[in-house]
Amino acid sequence: MGQITPQPGIMDIALYQGGESKIDGANRVTKLSSNENPLGPSPAAKTAYLEAVEDLALYPTTDHRALREAIAQVNDLDADRIICGAGSDEIIAFLCNAYAGPGDEVLHTEHGFLMYAISARAAGASPVVAAEAERVSDVSALIAAMTDKTRLVFIANPNNPTGTMISAAEVERLADALPDQALLVLDGAYAEFVSDANFDAGASLVETRENVVMTRTFSKIYGLGGLRVGWGYAPRHVIDTLNRIRGPFNVSSAGLAAAQAAVLDQDYTARCRDENAKWRDWLSAQLAQIGIPSDPSHANFVLARFADEDQAVRADQWLRKGSLIVRHPMSYGLPECLRITIGDETACRAVIKFLTEFMESERA
Ligand SMILES: *Cc1c(COP(=O)(O)O)cnc(C)c1O
Repeated sequence: MGQITPQPGIMDIALYQGGESKIDGANRVTKLSSNENPLGPSPAAKTAYLEAVEDLALYPTTDHRALREAIAQVNDLDADRIICGAGSDEIIAFLCNAYAGPGDEVLHTEHGFLMYAISARAAGASPVVAAEAERVSDVSALIAAMTDKTRLVFIANPNNPTGTMISAAEVERLADALPDQALLVLDGAYAEFVSDANFDAGASLVETRENVVMTRTFSKIYGLGGLRVGWGYAPRHVIDTLNRIRGPFNVSSAGLAAAQAAVLDQDYTARCRDENAKWRDWLSAQLAQIGIPSDPSHANFVLARFADEDQAVRADQWLRKGSLIVRHPMSYGLPECLRITIGDETACRAVIKFLTEFMESERA
């Protein structure tokens, strides 16, 4: 009996490895491997989620109007240019399925988010990698890698797992260089964390051009990773296209309700942003002091660099002895690094305590 063969490209996809959450023998761990919000979601979001229990038998709305209007109000956007998804991962998949196929190229940066290549291959298209300049997206390299087959150009700004960002002027230079048949996708999963004055998440590019899309998520600063809610901001023709392949009930009623309450609670969001910035700056300064460099991060994690892969593996093991789980970003081509999510004060202090001991043990 024959075995059915998947579509071309599917078997080239390496299985996505999520951040680990367990250590054998430890019953309490601190998970700093998936860039989750250590403070959790807004209390208003939890209340909305609990209230959604009364209507579990009912299908959710298909137009997501209330959530789109809340997002639009808070971010000063046009609700008709917003599309909601089961995480921004789903928006990325919609874009690849709608615009890329066999023979087409999907361009992303060297240490770019893994879902770009996964979704490109799932659509039968070919991922193409543009080198970064010392772990920073390199617009000149991206432009040089564009061809007449390029259909989508993905950059995360700030990027995961590097934490670095490029300026609004650089993003505009990239948008200006797009070939006619391509779309630029600005993945703003960490946009809410940025305080740099040169940053822009790209909404005005979306509004003034026909070929720029922005994606955002409720999984990071809003602390709702478990509910899977994300959104995209795009020109009308793109929204119209993506809505044709979107499942009518792709976001759950509880997810919609919690996300709406979360985005409307901007006081809480500001507190999360401030706490993150405070402990991110503290963590990177402490790392530098014990001889572990990292690039200035604009997100809710720091990419710590070690001497080589072996030392990163030993540091990871040392942290695990302290029940601390971070991410060793091997699949991102960064074997000598560990990506450490900014946890709460206790978690940040524990990371530094264990890494200080580790660096001492390395010198002994
Ligand atoms: C976490 C993350 C996402 C968001 O994923 P969701 O599907 O919305 O949870 C998107 N892009 C990048 C770069 C991320 O790190």
